[in-house]
Amino acid sequence: MSRHDELAAGLQSVRQRIANAAADAGRETDPALIVVTKFFPASDVAALATLGVQDVGENRDQEASAKAAETAADPDCAGLRWHFIGQLQSNKAKSVVRYAYAVHSVDRSSVIKSLNKAMTMEQQARQEAGSAPRGNMQCFIQVNMDEGAGGADQDASAHQGAERGGADPADVLELATRIENAEYLDLAGVMAVAPLGSDPDVAFGRLADISHQLRHEYPHADAVSAGMSGDLEHAIKHGATHLRVGSNVLGQRPGLR
Ligand SMILES: *Cc1c(COP(=O)(O)O)cnc(C)c1O
Repeated sequence: MSRHDELAAGLQSVRQRIANAAADAGRETDPALIVVTKFFPASDVAALATLGVQDVGENRDQEASAKAAETAADPDCAGLRWHFIGQLQSNKAKSVVRYAYAVHSVDRSSVIKSLNKAMTMEQQARQEAGSAPRGNMQCFIQVNMDEGAGGADQDASAHQGAERGGADPADVLELATRIENAEYLDLAGVMAVAPLGSDPDVAFGRLADISHQLRHEYPHADAVSAGMSGDLEHAIKHGATHLRVGSNVLGQRPGLR
C-alpha cells in the first residue's frame, strides 16, 4: 500500500468512528478533526491536505515551524491551519505566532503575556513588510484533569511529557479574562487530555462542566478540545468540538511511546 493509501484508510476509519459516535450522542454536527502529525514528515502533511484535512496539530515548535515552512509553497497546503498542542515555552511564542492558527495549551498567565507580545510584534512586522495582518491567535485554556489537581507538583508533571501540564480548574476564569483582555488573542474555549489510567468519561464530564461555567461568563468561548485516538468516542459523548487524533490516522509514532 502506498503511504497515500495508508493515510486515506486511516483517515476514513477515524472519520467513520467520529460520525458513528456523533450519531450515538445525537449530535447534529460532527466535531472538527485535527490530525496530529508530530514525528511524521511534511510529506505526510501534504498528503493529508490532498485528502481534505484542514487542521493539523503539532506539539514542538522546532518541528512544527520546519514543517510549516516546508509546506508553505505547496498550494494544497495553503489553507491548512496549524494547531499548537504541546507545552509552550514563553521564548517560543515569537516563532509560534508565525505559523500557528491556534494554541491549545494556554495554561498560565506568562504564556498569555508572551503570546500577546509576540503577536503585537508579528503584526507590526507584517505591516512594515506591507503584508496583511494575521488573524488573532485562537486560544484554548488547557485544564489539568489529574485527580487532586491544584496541589499538583508542577515539576513532576512537567517531566511526564508534552501531554501534561494544564491549569488548575479553579484558575480557568481568571486566565479567560486575561485572554479576553489581550488585544491579539481570542478565547476559543478549553482543552484537556484525559489522565492515563483513569476513566475518560469522568475527565471529559468534568471538562464539560468547566466549559459550561466558562460559557456562563463568555458565551462565545464554546470550543472543547478533547479526545485522542484511544478515547475520542468518550470525548464526543461529552461535547468535544475539536478532536486531536494522531496514531489512528498516521500509524504508530516512530521512537517515543
Ligand atoms: C500526541 C497528542 C495527541 C494525539 O494522540 P494520539 O493518541 O496519537 O491520537 C493529542 N493531544 C495531544 C496534546 C498530544 O500531544
